[in-house]
Amino acid sequence: MRQRISAVFFSCLLLVLSFIALRASFQYFPKVSFLKNLPVLSQASLRPTVSLDNTLNYEARQDVQTRTSWNAPIIWEVMFDPNLYDKEHLEAKTTVALTVFAVGRYLDAYLNTFLTSAEKHFMVGLPVTFYVFTDQPEKVPNITLAPLRHLKVIKVERYSRWQDISMMRMKTISEIIEKELRHNFNYVFCLDVDQEFKGRFGSEALGESVAVLHVYYYKLPKTQFTYDKNPKSKAYMSEGDYYYHAAVFGGSCDKVKALADYCYLNTMEDKLNNVEALWHDESHLNKYFWLNKPSRILSSEYCFDPLIHYKTEVIVPRLVWAPKQYAKLRT
Ligand code: UDP
Ligand code: MN
Repeated sequence: MRQRISAVFFSCLLLVLSFIALRASFQYFPKVSFLKNLPVLSQASLRPTVSLDNTLNYEARQDVQTRTSWNAPIIWEVMFDPNLYDKEHLEAKTTVALTVFAVGRYLDAYLNTFLTSAEKHFMVGLPVTFYVFTDQPEKVPNITLAPLRHLKVIKVERYSRWQDISMMRMKTISEIIEKELRHNFNYVFCLDVDQEFKGRFGSEALGESVAVLHVYYYKLPKTQFTYDKNPKSKAYMSEGDYYYHAAVFGGSCDKVKALADYCYLNTMEDKLNNVEALWHDESHLNKYFWLNKPSRILSSEYCFDPLIHYKTEVIVPRLVWAPKQYAKLRT
């Protein structure tokens, strides 16, 4: 008897929950009117299909590593034919979402430069939607965008600590992928706002699961990588492949959601245990990519520090760090 009552109870609960979910999705979708302008895509056509990596010239660069031990390409200038990538992605009607957070004083300091330069250099020619997450939607600059490119502003709360603003991006990224991006975009890229595009950041960067080499570490021996070495943190790792920079990551919606969920859950578990990873979301991201190898790695051309004081192999800086102003900007 007790079993039957609880079966009935759970069935009712399931029914109520499905109803709430259905209502929420109906309320949500009519608001995103610009999405109607994008080509209607089935789940099957949203799966990335373009594969041009057999056209990469891995020998073109003798001064750097162009392939990982698990055979993922590491993208450097000269290795790829930009026109070929663009042509195939245009034909495949590839769509890309870019997420960026500009919370608190970061909005005034960086967002305008980020967005105007992104419009000039990020996936030019492809349909791109910029998703700006901010606590001050009214201050987001009005940028002129090419056809099929859109900007969507979403209000988020402002955490009091900068570490939380940075780490909790993973939760928001996971939620927006689940709710919206996975129905409309083949790829999503997630970037820090304190950066400026200076050169082509094009479709050669697209892949299932994409990480970028941290410019200060790609030449260093692994012993110097600043992984989290605290066994109490979920980000702890004693060895790894590369040191990746969390200012740029991307991939298919499914893969980026898996990364964001992993980083968010481990961040929360650390909080329960009263620890914080050494480099916050970056430490968790490095652990994720150690356990789940990226299918594509971008060289430090795709996240370069122009103030670097020694010679590097970067011929074309595509995205560069904006000047840091931690004392003035961080809360
Ligand atoms: N961020 C923000 N407001 C803040 C702190 C961080 O919007 O007060 C966002 C912003 O997108 C920023 C990213 O979180 O680029 C990561 O923080 P930051 O760039 O300061 O980290 P760093 O690159 O110096 O490690
Ligand atoms: Mn940054």
